[in-house]
Amino acid sequence: MTNNETELLAQVPTGLFIGGEWVDAEGGRTLPVRDPATGQVLIGIADASPGDALRALDAAVAAQESWAATAPRRRSDILRGAFDLVREHADDLALLMTLEMGKPLAEARGEVTYGGEFLRWFSEEAVRISGRYGLNPEGTGRMIVSQRPVGPCLFVTPWNFPLAMATRKIAPALAAGCTVVIKPAELTPLTTLYFAKLLVEAGLPAGVVNVYTTSRSSDTSGPLITDPRLRKLSFTGSTEVGRRLLAQAADRVLRVSMELGGNAPFLVFEDADLDKAVEGAMLAKFRNIGQACTAANRFLVHESVADEFARRITARVAELKVGRGTEDGVQIGPLIDDRAVAKADELVQDAVNRGATLLTGGTAVDGPGTFFEPTVVAGVQDGSAILREEIFGPVLAIATFADEDEAVRLANDTDFGLVSYAFTRDLARGHRLIDRLETGMLGLNVGVVSNAAAPFGGVKQSGIGREGGLEGIHEYLSTKYTLIPAD
Ligand code: NAP
Ligand code: MG
Repeated sequence: MTNNETELLAQVPTGLFIGGEWVDAEGGRTLPVRDPATGQVLIGIADASPGDALRALDAAVAAQESWAATAPRRRSDILRGAFDLVREHADDLALLMTLEMGKPLAEARGEVTYGGEFLRWFSEEAVRISGRYGLNPEGTGRMIVSQRPVGPCLFVTPWNFPLAMATRKIAPALAAGCTVVIKPAELTPLTTLYFAKLLVEAGLPAGVVNVYTTSRSSDTSGPLITDPRLRKLSFTGSTEVGRRLLAQAADRVLRVSMELGGNAPFLVFEDADLDKAVEGAMLAKFRNIGQACTAANRFLVHESVADEFARRITARVAELKVGRGTEDGVQIGPLIDDRAVAKADELVQDAVNRGATLLTGGTAVDGPGTFFEPTVVAGVQDGSAILREEIFGPVLAIATFADEDEAVRLANDTDFGLVSYAFTRDLARGHRLIDRLETGMLGLNVGVVSNAAAPFGGVKQSGIGREGGLEGIHEYLSTKYTLIPAD
């Protein structure tokens, strides 16, 4: 570790953040956080027990009434202050994400910008929560429709976007007047802890946001989900875990938002601008080392341009620089852990065994660190696991289609529906695809769709609800209807 890195880590709070205080976990338990590029332990942090998690909920419950009664302008100002602080501390936040998660520093800076924008966006939305007033059709009553904060929320977030997955939930919740308990991923908790410190600096009252870190995700979240004081669960992570949490939430008819897995198709039509398609593909596939829910998972290319697309993309992929994300010019950092490397390896082997051609890469890189070579496989056959499962690594898999109907059928042939990408110069086709693709989001001739002003989320087993945009705050509001006599 460099001096700079050691100094930054010394500034990260290592306790649980409960009721405005940094406290130790029950029994003083700690867990190690590692750098996936080296395998080295960066720092030890508190490892919460179920009792600690309940204390975090106690604090959120205690703060709920006064936070809901806080003037929207004040809530807005605090969020705006947090946005300014995130910008001011952008270098620290970026380096911290690179250290704990592995993404290249330039991408970590991009995430600071993206993640920070949710704070600005929802600071603007906090003062625009409105309702309706009107006479009923019979003329006998006056109808008032208002919006109330849902109440205390539990957030469970994944490791792949340590800052943005936290701000995308925290900002709308605070704007709406809800208090929060957040449990970041065990592998990447440091960014959330550092961000909590910035929230304090921005003037957030004690108990409004509480953070617990733990190696026992299920044992700690279970008691919170069954606690009648909790009013909302928002989860981002795998569909498998999301399904389990949904089942728990069902017992209490708990309100939920679920941002789950994807299996994004990336369609390249015969009339596409291939240069733009290749640019879009590099972003849609290799951003975040391929570890994004929005990562293009299946490249479906018209058979007349498939060889040319494969040739051009392979030339680009073979040039990608692999290494620790802190090094200059690195584009591909490590995968998050050994399991992720093993999975990439298995998916490539299975595709090749079923008849695909390996065009570049294809193997794990010797340690230390959990690296996998940037890879292209073409001619992937139906039935290959790589077309059904989330790859979550730097592996680009190409299959072909013969016409638009087949392209749409293949694209929709999945339980997921988070995002799709399509490249075509035919405007009418573009409009048909908007209608026909079963997807929550569509990048039409672009390789990245994320924006704080846009509703992010999926259909089918990719989730329930939206984050960001005009829609995002409504996940944290419930509608109340009041009737009073007209005279
Ligand atoms: P994950 O294993 O589902 O974990 C997500 C979070 O859930 C972590 O905080 C994890 O804690 C916790 N968790 C795991 N098992 C749990 C259980 N039984 N009960 C309660 N909590 C539990 O997912 P991941 O590997 O971190 O993230 C990758 C997945 O997230 C991919 O499928 C990706 O597509 C999806 N994702 C979706 C979006 C979206 O917006 N749709 C965005 C980003 C990622 P621990 O860390 O302690 O295991
Ligand atoms: Mg886990």
